[in-house]
Amino acid sequence: MDGYERERSGLMAQIAAVAAETARATGLRAFDARVMAAMGTVPRHEFVLPADRPFAWSNQPLPIRFSQTISQPFIVALMTQLLALDPEDHVLEVGTGCGYQTAVLATLARHVYSIELEPELAASAAARLERLGYHNVDIRTGDGAKGWPETSPFDAVIVTACAREVPPALVAQLRPGGRLVLPLTTPTGQELMLIEKGRDDGDLETKPNDLPLTVRSVLRVAFVPLRQQREDDALLN
Ligand code: SAH
Repeated sequence: MDGYERERSGLMAQIAAVAAETARATGLRAFDARVMAAMGTVPRHEFVLPADRPFAWSNQPLPIRFSQTISQPFIVALMTQLLALDPEDHVLEVGTGCGYQTAVLATLARHVYSIELEPELAASAAARLERLGYHNVDIRTGDGAKGWPETSPFDAVIVTACAREVPPALVAQLRPGGRLVLPLTTPTGQELMLIEKGRDDGDLETKPNDLPLTVRSVLRVAFVPLRQQREDDALLN
């Protein structure tokens, strides 16, 4: 009991309502019970700025430090659902921010590797997740577009900032049959994309990067941009 029980069930109802409203676009009438349970368990009020705690359990994005945001809960649920996580999965997240999506992923998967460009956000998210008991998470500072090659391949990859193009390293680090969910800039605005990598056909001549990709646009969205690492910072990493 943490005093947010009513707000929690209110948010679950809001997520279910928006899922039904967007079902035609997303192809998803409702989200899995496991995903909804994770959304109900992760204490969102611990991830927002103290002044925003009264709004933590409403279905809206909120500002965090460094002009970034904590994503709208419906979008977190949708992206998590699209990843179709198995409890044994290893997941890569690009854009840790406050660590909220990280915690949802950590509830559903074996291990989460998360990369954040802003060193102070990475450090505070790591401390927060540790304090809240999410121990199956590794966070590092850097340009997430390059992925995390040492711990690849990943069963699932999620990007929580909007890219102009699909970062090739993230596709390369996805295992055959794996899923990549990311917002992309298109000529008409941002769209959430689901990319699935084909399974290995057993042909030794087929290189991992040659496996076919299935790409589907899921929904129009609004994310902060995926930024590039400054050259002088890159030299330090
Ligand atoms: N996942 C968060 C949302 C984070 S907002 C949530 O659960 O609410 C997007 C984050 O991506 C910001 O913290 C921003 O600093 C970070 N970001 C932007 N460009 C990046 C890059 N190239 N690599 C890693 N992180 C990046």
